[in-house]
This record gives sequence, C-alpha cells and structure tokens, in this order.
Amino acid sequence: MKKKTVRDIDVSGKRVLMRVDFNVPLGEDGSILDDRRIRAALPTIEYLLEKGAKLILVSHLGRPKGFDPAYKMDNVARRLSELLGKPVRKLDACVGPEVKQAVEEMKPGDVIMLENVRFYEGETKNDPEFARQLAELADIYVNDAFGTAHRAHASTEGVTKYLPAVAGFLMEKELEFLGKVISAPDKPFVVILGGAKVSDKIGVIENLLDKADTLLIGGGMLFTFLKAKGLEIGKSLLDAEHLDYAKGLLEKAPDKIVLAEDVVVADKIAPDASYKIVPVDSIPPDWIGVDIGPRTVETFSNYIKNAKTIFWNGPMGIYEIEAFAEGTKGVAKAVAESPALSIVGGGDIAAALEELSFADKISHISTGGGASLEFIEGKELPGVAALLDKGCCCCGG
Ligand code: ADP
Ligand code: MG
Repeated sequence: MKKKTVRDIDVSGKRVLMRVDFNVPLGEDGSILDDRRIRAALPTIEYLLEKGAKLILVSHLGRPKGFDPAYKMDNVARRLSELLGKPVRKLDACVGPEVKQAVEEMKPGDVIMLENVRFYEGETKNDPEFARQLAELADIYVNDAFGTAHRAHASTEGVTKYLPAVAGFLMEKELEFLGKVISAPDKPFVVILGGAKVSDKIGVIENLLDKADTLLIGGGMLFTFLKAKGLEIGKSLLDAEHLDYAKGLLEKAPDKIVLAEDVVVADKIAPDASYKIVPVDSIPPDWIGVDIGPRTVETFSNYIKNAKTIFWNGPMGIYEIEAFAEGTKGVAKAVAESPALSIVGGGDIAAALEELSFADKISHISTGGGASLEFIEGKELPGVAALLDKGCCCCGG
C-alpha cells in the first residue's frame, strides 16, 4: 500500500513534528564521526521549511539508559544548523511546559530540535501518555526515520494515534526501492546473500526464494550449505541447528541456489593469518573459510551482469580484515558495473560498500539495517503501517 507523503498535505504555517534518524556515530569526545544520516534527512527538512512549516525535529541517539549527557542532541543540532545554513533551536527536553512555550514562539520556517527521545522511558515502551504529549506539540506528524520504523516506539508509532501521519522523502525512497524487491522485481532477479549466520537470513530467503531467479550464496552462511552437501568445512562457521534447513533448501531449489565454488581459508581470523585459495571440496581440516575465492567472484559476476534487479545482503567474507575483503570487493565491482537496479540492505554490507567506495555506484543502499531486513522478510513495520495510506481522505490528500 502506498503511503501519503509530505507532498500530499498542506503544511504551510502548521506545526510539524518530524521523526528523523539522527543516530550518528560519535567519537570519544562526542564529536560526530559521520553526518550522513543528518544529510539524508535534508531534502524533507528543506521542503517543509520552504513550504512554511514550523518544524520540530525528534530523534534518538545511541542507547542511553535514561538521561545521559554523552547522548544529548546539541552537537547534532549544531551540525544540522551548519548544513541548513540557518539557526536550529535546541531544547533540553522533548515534552513539558518549556517545550510548549518554545513551540508557541515559532514562526513559519523555524526549526526546533528536541532532546534525545530515548532519555524518556516512555519512548521505547510506547507509552500512550508520552506519545500524546509529543503529539500535542504539533498539527502534523512526518516520519523520515526508516531505520527505526521496525520499532513500535512513541515517536515512531504512538504519536500517529493523535496526528495525521505521512512519510518524508527518505522514507518514501526506502519504501519504493525495497518495495520493488518484494513486489515486482524485473527479471532476472538475482539475490546475493552473505554475512554471518543462516538463522539471520531465513526470513529473507523464504520471502525471496519464489521471486528470485538465482540466489548467490557466500559469507559465513555458505559453510552450513557446504556441510549440508556433505563437504568437509574445517573450522569454518557452522550453524548446526540449520543444517537440515540448508539441506531442504538445496533439495527444493537446486537450480536457483548457487554456492561458492572456491574459498579463501585461513589458519586464524587475524590480519597476520596464513591463507590460501582452495576449491570448496578441498577445505583442509583445522582451516577456517573466510572469503569466497576468485573463481566464485567470476561466476557470481556473470549472474550479476545479466540481472535486471539485484538485492544484496551480507558481505561475502570477513571484510573487516583487508585480505579477506577481496570477495566482497569483486562482487561489489560486478554490481556497480551491472545495468541492473541494485538494492542493498543490511548494516554490515552497507558499511562495507561505503568503506570500499562503491556506495555511489549502487542504485539504493538502505539506511535501515535491521528495518530493511524485516521489510524484505515481508514483515509489516509498525512505523510504516501507522502512516496514512494514499487515497485515504482524512487530511485532504
Ligand atoms: P549484514 O549486517 O549486512 O546483514 P551480517 O550481520 O549478517 O550482515 O554479517 C556480517 C558479518 O559476517 C561480518 O562481521 C563479517 O565478518 C561476517 N562474515 C562474513 N563472512 C564470514 C565468514 N566466512 N566467516 C565468519 N564470518 C563471516
Ligand atoms: Mg550485521
């Protein structure tokens, strides 16, 4: 179901409460290490300000247990102000008389940043009273925080019980691209799966197996599949509980599932490990599979080259160690060069592609790690479900 967006409502002169994901990585001194998440919300923020909204921003930052000065939003508000080129008034609370007062003083085009919403236990508990107090500040609610949409919290779901709720542009973009993967992917549709454990990916496999033409399997989960085929995997990662699942899958879809044919094995997981490339049927005992090999990269690349839609989750190897990042790099290169619509979801793979400088060659890298996977699993995200559907008549759109 399509969701209403900021384009579908009149915001002029209105107080708009906007949930953003400004959960940026912080350095020891509290400085912002990477402001990408702030920049990602700028199109919606700028649009609302141009239309004359009074904009009240709310976000979480880190995982504070109650009030914690290390996680105040001051630096974030300052950075936002620099990016916008206009003042952002930072408040020290999210609700209460002072916040109400500040909101009453707002003029169209003004911006307020509320304090870290996770300082309130009502946030993660989705306390209706806290949600009502937040909602009271505004006339309209906008959600642009896709990365927290899989959590039913007061600022992502609770507030929508009291305010007309629409999507921001970032949210809209995420729903459009990820929606394409689970609804009508152009064929051939190739799914690339890696990462750590089979158990984390079962939901994704189950929801995409029928839609996909090919599932390319690398990463740590590969070895459970190799073991399921009766191969020796040495000390590689094994998800023993899901061995039967892997066996079943190989029987059910033998033509769709493509496993790596060669792997990099190492004597330990460390930058100074000894390592070598071996075919998957020759993994020596005591060695650990840490990456896919060059022949596999070539085979995978051929599927990728001919694809029309690609969904990729999970790195192909232990990319955190440079020597074991070659497989992920090789596959990333093929995805970057492929004319296919390429969509990437997952925290580690998104980080890996940024690090390896492939990010701008991918059609869409989801900003929501966990949220993107839940979406691809076909689960309804509470923060998305709570937004008004397009074609609904309750706010004039
Ligand atoms: P994502 O966050 O993209 O969904 P995961 O969280 O499932 O991906 O997996 C990422 C982790 O998988 C990385 O830390 C990486 O080191 C690990 N990994 C990749 N290949 C292997 C392997 N062969 N053995 C063990 N761990 C692996
Ligand atoms: Mg991860």
